[in-house]
Amino acid sequence: MIQAQIIYDDVRELPNAFTFLQDAPPASGGVLSVFLDTSFRRVPGRDYLVFFRNSTRAVRTELAASESDQLKDFDLAVERAEEFVLHFAPRHPGLALYASVDPEYFVAVPLPGRPVQDVAWGQQPVLTPLIEMMDEYEHVAVALVDKREARLFMTYLGAIDLYESIESDSTGKHAAGDFPRRTRSTGIRGGRSTPGKAGMIAWSGMGQSRQRRRHEEFAMQHLRDVAQALMQMMHEQPFDRLLLAGTEEAVDMLRNNLPQPLKARFAESLPLPVTASESEVLTAALEASERREREAEVETIERLVERTGTGGAVLGLEETLNAVNDGRVDTLVMNSNLSGAVSMCGNCGRLTTSTSTCPSCGSEIEEVPDLRERLALDVLDQSGRIEIVEGPAADLLDSHDGLGAFVRY
Ligand SMILES: [Zn+2]
Repeated sequence: MIQAQIIYDDVRELPNAFTFLQDAPPASGGVLSVFLDTSFRRVPGRDYLVFFRNSTRAVRTELAASESDQLKDFDLAVERAEEFVLHFAPRHPGLALYASVDPEYFVAVPLPGRPVQDVAWGQQPVLTPLIEMMDEYEHVAVALVDKREARLFMTYLGAIDLYESIESDSTGKHAAGDFPRRTRSTGIRGGRSTPGKAGMIAWSGMGQSRQRRRHEEFAMQHLRDVAQALMQMMHEQPFDRLLLAGTEEAVDMLRNNLPQPLKARFAESLPLPVTASESEVLTAALEASERREREAEVETIERLVERTGTGGAVLGLEETLNAVNDGRVDTLVMNSNLSGAVSMCGNCGRLTTSTSTCPSCGSEIEEVPDLRERLALDVLDQSGRIEIVEGPAADLLDSHDGLGAFVRY
């Protein structure tokens, strides 16, 4: 049951907002779903408010024309949503809002990216834009290292957290147990030990190489420890990709010492110093993950096409609808701009491209207004996953109705 209206202000709450809306009992009357672009370029003239007003007016006109008995409910929901939008101070690129006549059914959540602006009124909340955002922003770990220090970050949904700072002290003697020292501080200490001057005494050459070796051993131990800390981090908060940055030598040493699970997640090295600011780390990490996400999407489509030949996947509207109807979908893959009409049987509930009667049981069919939304929710009901693609991957999928699925059997 909904206890009270929920207004999230942390973008990382998006999965909670999604689960909440998915599980919430349907609002009486209907739900107003609103997606607004509140990125900085839309803020000065409050374009999003103008869009909200124009769109709700358009939806109202449609409702009035269809002589819907929901007009009163709609007006109340709009009133409550507008009150919120009017006083809303944007801090994130997007906003999703859900309102109904029921004062307890009101959810607002900021979005990490700019959504396609939309206003919809229906029996169910529109959830695909939230799924798309969660799919787009994965957990990405970033490790900044040199031979003595490390800073480990986690980025998620356009936000960044410092997970751990590691500062290994090479000057003191260490018992096995307290090496290296871990801190939460990011302070950099001066006073690096420098090798002694060359040629002072006959022994100096050997002394230097011994010292250099000790430095290398120390650095190696430090980076092994960083790898351990990353493993620990992954157990606490699983991440999809690992980015490394810092001095080239340290990054190479760390890469060569990554345990297999981390090696598998390593995406690329970023040109950042170990002292980079959080916002620099976040910006570089977002750019790299977007690039990787687009590449991974293309690979997904290639795999989809390949597996279709062996029965492990289906492509195109017709085949995908069949797989969804049979509950066979493991991962649904669809273009972010997927649209189009499809029907649902009023009797057996099967989705079909037929425009007359249900090909399965011959009963009356009704049109499904939002194909994307309908498919996504059906697949989630089957405990399937959703992968929404754009860019080059979407171009590849276009020739297959922008739709396909990896199937369980
Ligand atoms: Zn039927």
